[in-house]
Amino acid sequence: LFITFEGGEGAGKSTQVRHLEAHLREGGYDVVRTREPGGTPGAEALREFLLFGGHDLSLRAEIMSHFAARCDHVDRLIRPALARGQVVICDRFVDSTLAYQGYGLGKGDPRILDLIRTLGTQVGVVPDMTFVLTLPRAQALVRLAARGQSSDRYEAADEAFHARVADGFDAIARADPGRCLSVAADRPADAVARDIAVRVDACLA
Ligand code: C5P
Repeated sequence: LFITFEGGEGAGKSTQVRHLEAHLREGGYDVVRTREPGGTPGAEALREFLLFGGHDLSLRAEIMSHFAARCDHVDRLIRPALARGQVVICDRFVDSTLAYQGYGLGKGDPRILDLIRTLGTQVGVVPDMTFVLTLPRAQALVRLAARGQSSDRYEAADEAFHARVADGFDAIARADPGRCLSVAADRPADAVARDIAVRVDACLA
């Protein structure tokens, strides 16, 4: 089973990933928790470059670099884990590339969305379930300020960019309701975690 979490920064993805990991472990499942960009040494090096490297790539080059990281992650970690029967929980996947690079940076340009979708078909794995955490931007900003962590170059982008990313995630979730579930994240983490656990348990039953 391959489960991904998506959504803007501050929505609580990494908290929910850890909650679900603990829940599944309690149920006796063998779980691999991972993240993107990253998840393997090479992909983590690409993450550093993409988020903090100080170099600005053309949009197509940036997209392909995200997919280079993703292919390493899939080939060396995700696919082997799934083949062993492990449950893989991944913080971000192809939908983040669609939302950030496609809708955010690319402003929804159909050629860019098409490129990302085409590369997506070559990755070789598709999530069984995707939880899209939604949180009004004003609340996300409060959480990010409280977290006080150094901004990468995307977090520093303007508000119009973040609005396009949020709209992108909405469009992605609406277009693929069999895989994606939008989850309102403006609630206590435990309540969000319970909703997610119920969905995953139903899928495993
Ligand atoms: O939320 P997380 O820490 O996983 O995201 C790391 C950063 O990478 C965020 O600022 C996010 O905006 C950015 N990102 C991106 N494009 C992707 C994936 C992540 O801009 N495809």
